[in-house]
Amino acid sequence: MMKFADLIDQNVEELAALDTLDAGKLFSMGKAVDIPSSADTLRYYAGAADKIHGDVLKMSREFHAYTLHEPIGVVGHIIPWNFPTTMFFLKVSPALAAGCTMIVKPAEQTPLSALYYAHLAKLAGIPDGVLNVVTGFGPTAGAAICSHMDIDAVSFTGSTEVGRIVMKAAAESNLKVVSLELGGKSPLIIFDDADVDMAAQLALIGILYNKGEICVASSRVYVQEGIYDKLVKKLVEKAKAWVVGDPFDPKVQQGPQVDKEQFEKILTYIEHGKREGATLLTGGKPLALGGKGYYVEPTIFAEVKEDMLIAKDEIFGPVLALAKFKTIDEAIKRANSTRYGLAAGIVTKDLNVANTVSRSLRAGTIWINCYFAFGNDCPFGGYKMSGFGRDSGLEALHKYLQVKSVVTPLYNSPW
Ligand code: ADP
Repeated sequence: MMKFADLIDQNVEELAALDTLDAGKLFSMGKAVDIPSSADTLRYYAGAADKIHGDVLKMSREFHAYTLHEPIGVVGHIIPWNFPTTMFFLKVSPALAAGCTMIVKPAEQTPLSALYYAHLAKLAGIPDGVLNVVTGFGPTAGAAICSHMDIDAVSFTGSTEVGRIVMKAAAESNLKVVSLELGGKSPLIIFDDADVDMAAQLALIGILYNKGEICVASSRVYVQEGIYDKLVKKLVEKAKAWVVGDPFDPKVQQGPQVDKEQFEKILTYIEHGKREGATLLTGGKPLALGGKGYYVEPTIFAEVKEDMLIAKDEIFGPVLALAKFKTIDEAIKRANSTRYGLAAGIVTKDLNVANTVSRSLRAGTIWINCYFAFGNDCPFGGYKMSGFGRDSGLEALHKYLQVKSVVTPLYNSPW
């Protein structure tokens, strides 16, 4: 695994370019973040591989027992297109460390880097048959994994809709263990005492990073009434200055959406937002950059209500829903009024407020005065319809392990 990580580091440019070609992701980000941090994920779990152990149990006076943590078996990883490299290693690294064999099915939009990683795994000396990449479409290749009788676990990241299908197929076949990391509609709550510039920057990055194609995007921003006007002015200024264009250009901050389907879906949501009566502050249109590419303007809607489609559904694009609130209780209630529970952000200098809100929100990750702060040791996953099970951290390692109890008579066998 260490050698695999080194090989990734030696091929950063090429790997980043593959993800940019496939997904329209920023080449600069791939090079600086996605690819090197994935090599680090491999190293983190490589370090854990020889620290997997069970417990000695007291059991009773007659028996001595201990637990063994064994590999769960063959794992199927089904991953999405928005972070082809990060997702690949979030799934593969802990499963390798746990001693599993696996099949990875990358999203049909983004198979290139996964195939390259299969090649690097071979060069690194990972034995044939341990890490297998099968490209293909969801309803065929993906479905075959979910219903296979010899696959012991499936780890899925994607839409809530497909998550249901995965779970159903697992239940109807061999009851394989399922973990699901699904959609999100994450709230960012900005309180009156926040620094305006910092809060506006967080709100902006929270929705525009990776062109909004990120499951933890802060797609709902709640701003307290005392800071609202200043914050919105700053946010709109920043959104207007945001540079959209060729993802290989180092000056560009937002590339094209992944494909035509996603592009059209985002524009349809923008039309819904206009029709439902939200106020369009900026953006709202496709960007015709030389007539090529599925670019969408950074788009901000204000006066968004929780029952509007743009506040309820995961858009997966650069579309922000803003709303004003008065009290902390109102903010908590509105932030929680979603079927999702993946992440949330809080901007305040008041520790009491930060502590109260972070314990009141039903979401798997809470960021206080920051956003998108991930770490290999930080478990990541959802509450509610954002799924269950955790990627990252030692929790992810245990997802790929079985626990066996072994019992021995202490003295004479009673039988
Ligand atoms: P997104 O909305 O991000 O495209 P999807 O949930 O459609 O997310 O896709 C995520 C992954 O799930 C992809 O690898 C896709 O091929 C796969 N997938 C789609 N449909 C199915 C299915 N019926 N069974 C298993 N996997 C599927």
